Amino acid sequence: MIERVVNTVFTSCSYLIDDGDGGVWMVDCGDVEPVVELLRCRVVRGVLLTHGHFDHIYGLNELCKLFPNALVYTNAAGRDALLDAKLNLSKYHETPFVFNHPQNIRLSDEGERITLSESMTAEVLATPGHNPSCLTYMVGSDLFTGDAYIPGSKVVTNLPGSDKHAAASSLTRLIALVPTKTLHPGHFV
Ligand SMILES: [Zn+2]
Repeated sequence: MIERVVNTVFTSCSYLIDDGDGGVWMVDCGDVEPVVELLRCRVVRGVLLTHGHFDHIYGLNELCKLFPNALVYTNAAGRDALLDAKLNLSKYHETPFVFNHPQNIRLSDEGERITLSESMTAEVLATPGHNPSCLTYMVGSDLFTGDAYIPGSKVVTNLPGSDKHAAASSLTRLIALVPTKTLHPGHFV
């Protein structure tokens, strides 16, 4: 079961993946209040970050206060962004954000599998271009693409760290996967 939260900042999307064992894995983390409402008695085991931009991470400090053991998966560029308000672009927003639970960060990258439960894994695809921290997660037939592929909108490549050519190859790769998957992009459009 996948549940979606449309966040107040830039209508980014967070997703909740039920692990079938009383737990939830999130994809990205914005507003925490609606997540808590959806959780009922379940606990958040961790967060798979699609990338390190502010609108996809700003709830992490609040979430880790509630769930101090929640692991946060990202790649090395994502870790840097979590710890630097300039890299995650929050410096240009009214509330600069720096992740204050760095010990919860777990690094992951292309080709790795993250164990979500006994019967569930997330396959990690590196899909850079929008940002070097962009990872796509494949969980069964569900595909979480973040900002690397949002149907109907062009991949944003005019930000610091963006790479147009990388974005185009990531997009080609993702579009080839889509016909057999259920797509969950990083923004509500
Ligand atoms: Zn972004």
